[in-house]
Amino acid sequence: MNDDSNTQKNMTRRQFLATLGMAGVGLAVPAAAAAAAAATAPAEGGEELATLHDLSKCVGCGACVEACREANAHKFPEPKKPFPPMFPATVKAEDWSTRRHVDDRLTPYNWLYIQSARGQYQGQPFEIHIPRRCMHCQNPPCANLCPWGAAARQNNGIVRIDDEICLGGAKCKTVCPWEIPMRQTGVGLYLKLMPTYGGNGVMYKCDRCADRVAKGGQPACIEACPYGVQEIGPRSEIVAKAHALARDMGGYIYGETENGGTNSLYVSPVPFDVLDAAATTGPGKPHLSPVADMMADEDKLALAALLAPVAGVVAGALRLGSRLAGGRRPDPPEGPKPDSGGGGARPSASELLAGGFGKGFTDGASPAPKDGQGGKEGGK
Ligand code: SF4
Ligand code: SF4
Ligand code: SF4
Repeated sequence: MNDDSNTQKNMTRRQFLATLGMAGVGLAVPAAAAAAAAATAPAEGGEELATLHDLSKCVGCGACVEACREANAHKFPEPKKPFPPMFPATVKAEDWSTRRHVDDRLTPYNWLYIQSARGQYQGQPFEIHIPRRCMHCQNPPCANLCPWGAAARQNNGIVRIDDEICLGGAKCKTVCPWEIPMRQTGVGLYLKLMPTYGGNGVMYKCDRCADRVAKGGQPACIEACPYGVQEIGPRSEIVAKAHALARDMGGYIYGETENGGTNSLYVSPVPFDVLDAAATTGPGKPHLSPVADMMADEDKLALAALLAPVAGVVAGALRLGSRLAGGRRPDPPEGPKPDSGGGGARPSASELLAGGFGKGFTDGASPAPKDGQGGKEGGK
């Protein structure tokens, strides 16, 4: 590239950042109540889709894990190496690109894994395999609290992170009760805007095969399972099926009420607190404990109220910046549709460049879950 084109590109970046700064000047903060409603209201349109996992059928063969990796390989990060110096310097680089083969936990290259629990229950041995991935919460804190509108909930119940505009601050991970999103350094918009510095990177997780579902297809993991463990359908039907299944096996439900309700329901013949105690949990290996509704927390509600109105505006500005900075993936068939309006507070350019509200994240232990209960059917 010659000097002129470099100057042009640098000016374009500066113009973009200036535009971000100016854009917020005219944005008014709306009434908190209206904003909170926008942040937490259910999506408009048709009923969201949910999935049901019958854990009594899963043999832990891993065919779903392989299918997920294959179907989503084109979305996996291809980081720039060596990583530029990190900025802010306190941010720790996270590199999974040399460990792409890891399939016994969640990583940016492995969005689904099989968690196994073995033990004794009521004097009988059990071995239960649990396909684990994003729960696709109905009121997802990851999307409600993303400062940049990169994480968003679609009308069909999918919660996805737009890798074109994610700045990798890991806010989504710190507020997720299961710490699902995983970070890869050396990719993302940050590098396009500030190529000489390594920013936080981008967060990755299951997008419930949004591209396949948008074309009327099924998630790859459901299609690949030889034992019919999973099915997908309108949430009310899936909830009814989960209760019928749990009644039939005298079993238990996880995911219906956790975190205020999710679109991933599990039914097990063994209680989930027993499974949680028997399974290995930790970084990249989510727990199965009860989870109260994270968004019922007043502080989080207030923050969501502040962020929700601006999420779409900021996301649009970041998309524009990504295009000006050059290079982008093709638009997904159905883009994220945040449940938010316009107007409100804005990030400053310095916040943008510093990775914003998200702080440098290390793969630490899960926070203690709050109270709440996995549902139980039958009389065990
Ligand atoms: S499980 Fe975590 S990452 Fe997935 S939608 Fe819920 S809050 Fe977001
Ligand atoms: S829904 Fe798609 S992205 Fe999510 S675990 Fe299944 S195959 Fe992977
Ligand atoms: S869900 Fe199906 S494909 Fe996946 S491990 Fe269980 S039995 Fe195998």
